[in-house]
Amino acid sequence: MAAHRQNRPWGGGTVERAKGEAPDYVADCYLCPGNVRVSGRRNADYASTYVFDNDMPCASPEAPRDLAKPPGIYRNQPAEGLARVVCYSPRHSLTLAELGLDEVEELVRVWQGQYEELGARPEVKHVLIFENKGEAVGVSNPHPHCQIYATNFVFKYIETEARVSQRHLQETGRVLFQDILAAEREDGRRIICENDTAVAFVPYFARYAYEVFVAPKRTRPSVAALTERERRDFADVLRRVVIRFDNLWRMPFPYVMPLHQAPTDGGDYRGFHFHVEFHPPLRRPNLLKYLAGPEIGGGNFLSDTSPEEKAQELRAAGEVHYKHLGEGGEG
Ligand SMILES: [Zn+2]
Ligand SMILES: [Zn+2]
Repeated sequence: MAAHRQNRPWGGGTVERAKGEAPDYVADCYLCPGNVRVSGRRNADYASTYVFDNDMPCASPEAPRDLAKPPGIYRNQPAEGLARVVCYSPRHSLTLAELGLDEVEELVRVWQGQYEELGARPEVKHVLIFENKGEAVGVSNPHPHCQIYATNFVFKYIETEARVSQRHLQETGRVLFQDILAAEREDGRRIICENDTAVAFVPYFARYAYEVFVAPKRTRPSVAALTERERRDFADVLRRVVIRFDNLWRMPFPYVMPLHQAPTDGGDYRGFHFHVEFHPPLRRPNLLKYLAGPEIGGGNFLSDTSPEEKAQELRAAGEVHYKHLGEGGEG
């Protein structure tokens, strides 16, 4: 933490706010209902969520298998799997924060189905579901969607989380994430919102100014393991968090949002506690957190802000989306 640095002079890059509102339908959007994608395939005339195989997949069953043997100490293996896209809504301009609770719950239901279906494939060892939102993280198409990479390898953060969770369980008999939740609850200053079975907080160890974790209160290794009640509650807290994000500066709030779930490689993941992480790149409305010397060069995050202050800002941001204010009611 180096919160005293946050007001240092800045003469570098800023991020412009998008101007105007995007329409509900855009003829050349590859995600809008009924449109033809780059592959020549046509989207269904969908009415809620819509899942399709990514036309330009990072992981594919057609990935090259015969790799050249690397020299010396180096090792390689074919990266196989499937990549999919999930549209949240047929409406081009809506973001996750503007969806109703039923729609967010429907999205969580889709995540459950995808994790189960893809995770059951013998070659798939892990299902990474994530949303990149906003031009600040390289997404130019505002159509609300997330991506799924189902791969024959486990992504690095998941591998680390699974390993340390397992070790903590062996050493203490406790679930690591439960100890984190207990510490957050004991302190209380970084908790954003909660209901009976789900909670959102800025972790003590937040790397980004507005980093937020959303998790069920009971340990579930994946989104698919949530009960019906927990699914509804999880959707509720998730929605309240993204509304607060948008309300913070009254603008669509950019982030990278991965679901951290147990691998599907048949291992023992009783200590793994499913959660969603938000990694928002902005420190202020037009100011990016650059990853530089300490982060890229040294491998440690230097946070210029205090997580307690940022949690307080998010708590104060309100749970009715700013675009719905004045409509009377929840919107
Ligand atoms: Zn669209
Ligand atoms: Zn995580």
